[in-house]
Amino acid sequence: MVDRADVVVIGSGGFGASTAFHLAERGVQSVVIDRHAPASQTSPRAAGLVSHARTTDLMVELVKRASAKLERFTEDTGQPLDWTRSGSLKVARRPEDVPVIEEDVARGLRLGLDVEQLSGAEAHDLNPFLEDDDVLAVLRVGDDLYFDPAQVAIGYVRGAEARGATVLANTTVTRVHVEDGRVEAVETDGGTIRTQIVVDAAGAWTRQVAAASGIEIPLVPTRHQLFVTEPLDAVRADLPIVRIMDAAVYVRPCDGGLLWGGYEERPRFVDMDALPRDFDMAATPLDADVLRGLAEDVRRQLPILSEAGVREHRGGLPTMTADGQHLVGPAPAATGFFVAGGCNVAGLSISPAIGDALAAWIVDGAPPLDLEPLSIERFRGEGIAEEELERDAAWQYRHFYGAV
Ligand SMILES: Cc1cc2nc3c(=O)[nH]c(=O)nc-3n(C[C@H](O)[C@H](O)[C@H](O)COP(=O)(O)OP(=O)(O)OC[C@H]3O[C@@H](n4cnc5c(N)ncnc54)[C@H](O)[C@@H]3O)c2cc1C
Repeated sequence: MVDRADVVVIGSGGFGASTAFHLAERGVQSVVIDRHAPASQTSPRAAGLVSHARTTDLMVELVKRASAKLERFTEDTGQPLDWTRSGSLKVARRPEDVPVIEEDVARGLRLGLDVEQLSGAEAHDLNPFLEDDDVLAVLRVGDDLYFDPAQVAIGYVRGAEARGATVLANTTVTRVHVEDGRVEAVETDGGTIRTQIVVDAAGAWTRQVAAASGIEIPLVPTRHQLFVTEPLDAVRADLPIVRIMDAAVYVRPCDGGLLWGGYEERPRFVDMDALPRDFDMAATPLDADVLRGLAEDVRRQLPILSEAGVREHRGGLPTMTADGQHLVGPAPAATGFFVAGGCNVAGLSISPAIGDALAAWIVDGAPPLDLEPLSIERFRGEGIAEEELERDAAWQYRHFYGAV
């Protein structure tokens, strides 16, 4: 095993793999360590949706950068990525959600997005699976796209390896050794690697990896799941993604059928310390009744979800934060300790931009744009009690589409 590295990246999911790739593009060869097979955990289980209608200018900018990188993924990495710029339709069923759509349109136009407000009937013309019963307003986002989630992290892993990065699979980081407030080494079950820079991109395990060095990262692994239906007549790959705001349900075309999922009111949080040491995301406990309940909630707008046969049921453990924003950047408690976590069920789509920004930060000493709103520092001071974290994270989870 290597015993020295310029940078050690812990985790080869979307966040870690993209960071390693963008470091390699800048001539820095990292060692990427993963306790499982590369890119095999939450990342390949995602829905693969990219959403540009975000609540802050920073997030819109990051998503714009990420989607541009997804569209030229093959050119940049030499690895395959199937993607479709289908656009999307975000649906308000309650009067209180209509102003949110109006704000989305105003912000989107100001930031150069292809957005407009439509009626339910106009939206139905764009995607016939969406019925206009009880639909009050629809946000159309022409920029939105979807991609094959299984290709992104592994593509970045292979692209990084081709540019000189070393990937150590089936190797667990047990502790980041910090001395006098500086990262000195990474200890693994296969030996120690001396390094001064570490990136904790351990997904559901991000908190445990940091805690082993006394660093608190307030995020909570949260079960999220989806169905892929049997092929259906009338599904076309370019049908726009549909999102129902208050029900927090999404649907997009997938291999001739539909892929759909949603965010339940009371999400299931998971304590990683309570799971077996060799826990694999493939063993995430799923619950079809949660999805059936969500299908019932949107039966009048998306009756197909209650009718279509299911070909695949999958899920994983993305991580939620108390304010719904990612956790990206240096951990103030230890020089050289960087974090890319708190994906809030939207990390894969933004990973091209986050990895690029972190790589620039590590190499140049500063990020290419102001990422202060995503800093770990924001939860410092009094910290955040576990109860409060779970309460706020549950709210953020259910309100991902901006419903009030
Ligand atoms: C059903 C579902 C739908 C989703 N839909 C979307 C979507 O439409 N759009 C979107 O952007 N996101 C979506 N997501 C969220 C997305 O999957 C995550 O945000 C993203 O994959 C997080 O990537 P990651 O790199 O943080 O985690 P992971 O992919 O889990 O990678 C973390 C890696 O760290 C490794 N690791 C952990 N601990 C250690 C250790 N101690 N030593 C070594 N290695 C370690 C793990 O083995 C793992 O491979 C969805 C998620 C699910 C489950």
